[in-house]
Amino acid sequence: MDSFVHAELILLNGQFHTVDRENPFAEAVAVRDGKFVQVGTEAEVMAYRGERTKVVDLKGHTAIPGLNDSHLHLIRGGLNYNLELRWEGVPSLADALRMLKEQALRTPSPQWVRVVGGWTEFQFAERRMPTLDEINEAAPDTPVFILHLYDRALLNRAALKVVGYTKDTPNPPGGEIQRDSNGNPTGMLIARPNAMILYATLAKGPKLPLEQQVNSTRQFMRELNRLGLTSAIDAGGGFQNYPEDYEVIAELHSKQQMTIRIAYNLFTQRPGHELEDFEKWTDMLTPGQGSDFFRHNGAGEMLVFSAADFEDFLEPRPDLASGMEDELERVVRHLVEHRWPFRLHATYNESISRMLDVFEKVNCDIPFNGLHWFFDHAETITEANIERVKALGGGIAVQHRMAFQGEYFAERYGQQATKQTPPVAKMLEAGLPVGLGTDATRVASYNPWTALYWLVSGRTVGGMQMYDHSARLDRDTALLLWTQGSA
Ligand SMILES: [Zn+2]
Repeated sequence: MDSFVHAELILLNGQFHTVDRENPFAEAVAVRDGKFVQVGTEAEVMAYRGERTKVVDLKGHTAIPGLNDSHLHLIRGGLNYNLELRWEGVPSLADALRMLKEQALRTPSPQWVRVVGGWTEFQFAERRMPTLDEINEAAPDTPVFILHLYDRALLNRAALKVVGYTKDTPNPPGGEIQRDSNGNPTGMLIARPNAMILYATLAKGPKLPLEQQVNSTRQFMRELNRLGLTSAIDAGGGFQNYPEDYEVIAELHSKQQMTIRIAYNLFTQRPGHELEDFEKWTDMLTPGQGSDFFRHNGAGEMLVFSAADFEDFLEPRPDLASGMEDELERVVRHLVEHRWPFRLHATYNESISRMLDVFEKVNCDIPFNGLHWFFDHAETITEANIERVKALGGGIAVQHRMAFQGEYFAERYGQQATKQTPPVAKMLEAGLPVGLGTDATRVASYNPWTALYWLVSGRTVGGMQMYDHSARLDRDTALLLWTQGSA
């Protein structure tokens, strides 16, 4: 026994879900140098107790491995978190409207009340969204902006006034300003053909001053910690410029105030100039550069704007423009030459087929040769394309967007198609690396447990049974996918 090295930490009297199929549960663990030295019964673990060992009684509570969200817009979300009212998990529209009213009363001018994603009408007992009249009544004077998935935004009269949309405002190229019979904006903005109008309107609102963005990011990381998250891969995001919008996270990193480990991907912001962005960034950064808490992870999820297929299941599937292949090839060629790992947003199999044509062509000239790359989302990918991803050494990062909009998908494509969307079980059967994540904060919720519930139960947030038995994952597999990244 004296050859034993004592543990630094012992956790007793807990329920440990070990994600080890041979030994799925344990009541106690001993930890040293950040590693488990013993997992088992109280007696087995207490053998590692030394004079300086900290012993914690969990009093029967469950302990889980730290979760990793492989697709989160954390850095951008952190800058705005303190500005947002979140409706995650709120059971009724009546509650949601009450929260809106209370928030409007305590929101100082010129700030807005923003509800930016993380909810669906199917979670409410009333099974519907608020009306414009209801939000005008709840907030007569404070601007209110409510984003619903990727399809629309609801603005009250005060918000319409500050953004300046009137009878004379033409529809912007990216969307539609809904009008009444007199031609006046109603307050509803519709993402048709894409979500640009929603984000461009949101961007008109006041930002937080820098020091409050620092606080906001800390609050957001704390909230993620509360849900069991310890690391994330940041997927960049629209209006999230590098290096300008990374000042806050860099400051938190230098002060050692980060409570989530982040690997971050760089997202191009300039349609038509994407290659210039990546040429600039490959000169500035090396993949892996940074520390264990904050390191660079390559390119994406946007590589070229022409390759972005927009996942609004209320609208028909978009066909990507014919020039997409040439633009994507130039960027991917550049990334592979510089050995930059990359990720690419792709919702539909039709888009994925064309992107894979490009990847295979580049791979013939410059072999990928083990370079890490993956698709994000891949809701409708087929088995044939899963095999092509595998042949190129790629992976797939899956998110629970269907938990929030499965009802819409089923209405357009049918229950049968919905049962395999996305085909996570098939990706795993094929041996692909699969990461799980949320794609929060603007569409789905950042709550990893909502995503786990969706994969294990096969149900959407609204309760629709979408996955059949063969497509659902068991709890161990689902949890395991949440404890590893795919990058
Ligand atoms: Zn995406």
